[in-house]
Amino acid sequence: MQFDLRTLFIVLVSMYACLGFVCLLLPYRIPGSRAVTDWGIGMLLFAAGMAGIALRGAVPDVLSIVLANGLILAAFPFVMRSVRPETAPAVFAFGWLVIGAAVLAIAYFTFLQPTTRIRIVIVSLALAILVVYPVIALLAAAKESGRARRFTAACMGGIGLAMLVRAALTVVWGANQNFLASNAVQFGSLLLFGIFIVLSTLGVIWIEIEKLRAELARLAMIDPLTATLNRRAFMLEYERELSRCAREKTGLALAIFDLDHFKDVNDTHGHLVGDEVLRRVADVLRASLRGHDVLGRYGGEEFVLLMPGADAAAAQAGTERVRLAVGERPIEVGRLSIPVMLSAGVAVFGIDGSDQETLLRSADAALYRAKRGGRNRVVAAHTAPAGSPGSR
Ligand code: GH3
Ligand code: MG
Ligand code: MG
Repeated sequence: MQFDLRTLFIVLVSMYACLGFVCLLLPYRIPGSRAVTDWGIGMLLFAAGMAGIALRGAVPDVLSIVLANGLILAAFPFVMRSVRPETAPAVFAFGWLVIGAAVLAIAYFTFLQPTTRIRIVIVSLALAILVVYPVIALLAAAKESGRARRFTAACMGGIGLAMLVRAALTVVWGANQNFLASNAVQFGSLLLFGIFIVLSTLGVIWIEIEKLRAELARLAMIDPLTATLNRRAFMLEYERELSRCAREKTGLALAIFDLDHFKDVNDTHGHLVGDEVLRRVADVLRASLRGHDVLGRYGGEEFVLLMPGADAAAAQAGTERVRLAVGERPIEVGRLSIPVMLSAGVAVFGIDGSDQETLLRSADAALYRAKRGGRNRVVAAHTAPAGSPGSR
């Protein structure tokens, strides 16, 4: 059977060039992420290097051997940055050291002591060393998009393995001094290299799509103005906490906050200032949360707070703490100093309701009473309404 290496190289060059351009043009990527772009640059360097090797005999050896292999190895810093953008400079430095040493050794075994076999071993070992870091980085980050990362790590590990076997077999069986006339070992290992590169590219794109999916899921849960949970996400969390509370017989309380006379802030300073005040109030609310508390924006200038584990006293105290934190000092927006106060209604699981809707309705009714009672206060649903004996 005839193995024509030059034809294989032409196929690989076309393949890598296509992969490179697809990566550079792919629209599915997180804004600001360079992962797929860097991978694409790596593929184009592979394509350029392999094109150089395919031209052996037609161009000087310094181009078709030294430069060509240098370009193939130079793809790896981009591969490293692609799989882990925050790669430490020391790792890049080590990568460049391996590449520089390999290129010098290749030059030596091209011009001073021409030996194809040793050159093949050097390039194979350098490639095997250079894939170690991407494989480790992918596995270390496999907590997120785990399947995509493990798949890519396995494919890149395959590249390393193919190169180690190539080096070993080349040592044992030797190689034709004219590289392009080499035997099945070179053909097989380079074909495997090509297959694993294609699969790794799919893996890198898969990882990016997974990241994008996670980001979209996150955005679908977050209120864009205040960065708290939006109503939909809060209600899901609320449902989860309620069933946990019922199952584990732990406490759960719910508070609804509504800013007092917030319309006046908008009317006096405009909606943009109103928006900024809402954002800052959310910051204060977030800063006064405890442990497993869950904060959400219920609508307009209304926030909801879930207090898992809280009984009536803890819920009252927790909500009061939040009210005081917001009212403690005016919110500064530019040169404006805007005092903000809020009213809150609190409902406790088991006392004011045992299902999602009843508890919410109780908290809302208590909030209404807080407003009617003069605002800037917390009212618990289970306290007697104003005017009746024992009221606050
Ligand atoms: P109250 O003390 O009775 O709650 O008086 P209020 O003026 O706060 O009345 P209400 O809660 O009914 O009014 C809510 C106002 O909040 C109406 C609207 O102008 C304002 N608002 C709601 N959402 C936003 C928002 O996203 N940005 C801004 N700037 N204002 C908002
Ligand atoms: Mg309101
Ligand atoms: Mg209000």
